[in-house]
Amino acid sequence: MTDKPVRVRFAPSPTGYLHIGSARTTLLTWLFARHSNGKFILRIEDTDQKRFVQDALDKLMQDIRWLGLEWDEGPDVGGPYGPYIQSERLELYQKWAHWLVEQGKAYKCFATEEELARAREISQKTRGGRIAGYERIYRFISDEERAKLEKERGSYVIRFAMPLEGETVAHDRIRGDVVFKNEELSDMVLLKSDGFPTYHLAVVIDDHFMQISHVTRTEEWLPSLALHHNLYEAFGWDEPEWVHMPVVLNPNGKGKMSKRNPPMVDGKIVPVMVNDYREAGYLPEALINFLTNVGYSFGDDQEIFNVQDTITRFDIDRVSPASAAFNFQKLVWTNGVYIRELTDEDLADRLVPFLQKAYGNVDRAKLVKIAPHIRERVNPLSEAVALLKFMFNFEPCPNDKLIQKNMDAAGTRNVLHLSYERLATLTDFSHEVQATVMEPLVEQLGLKKAQVYGTLRMATTAQQVSPPLFETMEVLGKDESLARIQAAEAQLNGA
Ligand code: GLU
Repeated sequence: MTDKPVRVRFAPSPTGYLHIGSARTTLLTWLFARHSNGKFILRIEDTDQKRFVQDALDKLMQDIRWLGLEWDEGPDVGGPYGPYIQSERLELYQKWAHWLVEQGKAYKCFATEEELARAREISQKTRGGRIAGYERIYRFISDEERAKLEKERGSYVIRFAMPLEGETVAHDRIRGDVVFKNEELSDMVLLKSDGFPTYHLAVVIDDHFMQISHVTRTEEWLPSLALHHNLYEAFGWDEPEWVHMPVVLNPNGKGKMSKRNPPMVDGKIVPVMVNDYREAGYLPEALINFLTNVGYSFGDDQEIFNVQDTITRFDIDRVSPASAAFNFQKLVWTNGVYIRELTDEDLADRLVPFLQKAYGNVDRAKLVKIAPHIRERVNPLSEAVALLKFMFNFEPCPNDKLIQKNMDAAGTRNVLHLSYERLATLTDFSHEVQATVMEPLVEQLGLKKAQVYGTLRMATTAQQVSPPLFETMEVLGKDESLARIQAAEAQLNGA
């Protein structure tokens, strides 16, 4: 274990929005930093120029911030160990790659694609299918030969000279010793012919110079650990503590969650990117609460905990080494719990952007009034768009939908007419008072509640599903409710 101050990083390649699995890794890293009063650093690993996507950096940062995982050092906020974007650090990587060459720990490789393909083929044929090490064509040549090749060919890559025998043993905080047979390792490229580093070189140099104390990343990076461990040794640097976290699997426990092939639960697509959760209306605090429990557990039955508690109680040694399935139903449940706990004002504020996007300007005061009546019905929040259409973009209901089961046009007209008369007498239009005039009317008409209230619901909202009827009319207001009832009656007259 290291006794260095905790400095941990999230080091994404900027390829677009944040994947939910990366969000979980980021979260655990952030929790560890906050729990330890350490620093959380955002570093952008953009040395693979082919994969670079314009504006991806903004999208990434927006997603991480939306989750509330603020970083202490990073591309936009700066910090003492910047720059925090790898493409701005090329000289550093080049310098250290050449240093390794001078020390005899790495070498210039002049192999062409064809030479490599041939070497691979020969290795496969002559070594019983084994290919590790086939790329060592230019490792064991004389200095003169090397100088000659450099002159002739000009371009080269720098490869790391992996140990050829014995074992590489690296210690992982949650997995224990990870052992590699050196004969199975390859001489990986550190610096490409265009002067760009590979991920391996850049990550080791940056983690060292940014004084990263713990490397927290998913277990997918375990195969790279042998090289990284040996690189630290070659540089003569203390290595950080390794923490390889479990990956997040599909809800059925099979395979990684993938954007291209999103999982389905209960006939619904499960979003894979954080941005899709935001757009659907999951609360960031619910997502954080839920994600804390994927591949990690406090070891008790408590399901709901706020971020402060989580930070206080967080213990990196409780991160499980086993991959964890993404329990979507539990996320929906957690989101519901958080929505129910919002005040009316807060719920309204969170709904505004969804409704504005769908309908333009919305009346916030009205939203605050309807909030208690929809709280149980908007999970995720985007469901409010359909549920509240009657408030912000009302279109009268066609006659066939107005007429309820076992009723006809004349009967429907009668219900609308009498309801209008009763409701028009009210000076207090609260839902309780509406009930006092409408309940006797239902009895008097000898109809079912569903028939009378269904008629009124369709007249005032044009929706099969709406918040409770009297509460809905209360929020619409007396004038608007009566106008809609009257208009429906008039429309039926024309039928
Ligand atoms: N750039 C790597 C990625 O895209 C980071 C891996 C690491 O954390 O070392 O995931």
